[in-house]
Amino acid sequence: MSQRKINFNAGPATLPVAVLSQYAEAVMSYGNTGMSILELPHRGKDFLNIIEESKALVRELCGIGNEYEILWLQGGGRMLFSMIPMNFLKAKGAAGYIDSGHWAAEAIEYSEHYGATHILGSSKSSKYNHLPSWPSAIPADLSYMHITTNNTIYGTQYHSMPTANVPLIGDMSSDILSGRRDYSKYAMFYAAAQKNLGTPGVALVGIHKDFLAQEAGHQPPMLSFKAHVKENSILNTANVSGIYCSLLMLRWIKAKGINNIEAENARKATMLYDVIDASPLFTAHVPDPAHRSLMNVCFTAKNAATEQALLDICNTNNITGIQGHRAVGGFRVSLYNSVTEADTALLAQLMRELETKS
Ligand SMILES: *Cc1c(COP(=O)(O)O)cnc(C)c1O
Repeated sequence: MSQRKINFNAGPATLPVAVLSQYAEAVMSYGNTGMSILELPHRGKDFLNIIEESKALVRELCGIGNEYEILWLQGGGRMLFSMIPMNFLKAKGAAGYIDSGHWAAEAIEYSEHYGATHILGSSKSSKYNHLPSWPSAIPADLSYMHITTNNTIYGTQYHSMPTANVPLIGDMSSDILSGRRDYSKYAMFYAAAQKNLGTPGVALVGIHKDFLAQEAGHQPPMLSFKAHVKENSILNTANVSGIYCSLLMLRWIKAKGINNIEAENARKATMLYDVIDASPLFTAHVPDPAHRSLMNVCFTAKNAATEQALLDICNTNNITGIQGHRAVGGFRVSLYNSVTEADTALLAQLMRELETKS
């Protein structure tokens, strides 16, 4: 086996070794079923237990109760960009979106296929280097308001969320369960799993029953939240092994504790922002610390030679995944829950050494 890399990729992201080894064991033999998790029937009791435990853990870790339905869907984040307006953008109504980054803009583009889509705030003109200010008035007749809680590509994050006077929908793909949050503010929250919660092709949805009741109800079952709720996320052949991996992540998060995870994430991000802010070689993409993401640290090098030097030194030290998204360039270091403090400290140290060498 080749040496395991220190992986700061934005997604698919690194997973805890403890989770990988449990998953590997399940690939060979799942419990006492005499089968691999890859072979496990989606309509059997064993998978039903996986679904039920995962739903209970999501409710527990998010601090919500049975007023929320919990779903595991396929199609990742983008399928939800479609399903949300399809089901909740009322025929003669409009939806509101905050344009805070690449994914927010993509959600807006998808919504425009279905109906009137209002942009309630945008930071696009400054390369999304801050969070748009909260709208002074949110039209009360909006079907919903959509927000991206962490902007994965530009590295901004809402550290507190005002309450909205219309149903609030949060794309939490890149910061779900990364710290304490008030999930009860959301009519619906969702996350593609490949950042903080498992592997690609699985998406978690939490949806309040009152909001679900507003679903328009003319979509085919696969595209209807109500139909997925009715079938307990087993409407079609479910992604059994992917959902199992998410269950392992949820157990891992519970064992660490959300408070500890939050404190650790803050320490990791501080290590890097401190080096960047003190260094003449690097500039943070997001100047205001209050808007900075603890999950994705985005920065640029002052010149091409420095950029190459950091890539080289990471390469030599077995570090991968620090290159920025093609839309922004520079660097992006993703510090999801599974990234360790030791690995983050190593990167911070290498960046500091670069400074003394130059
Ligand atoms: C990664 C990401 C997505 C996209 O998810 P896909 O599963 O690739 O469609 C959506 N929103 C945010 C905030 C993301 O970080």
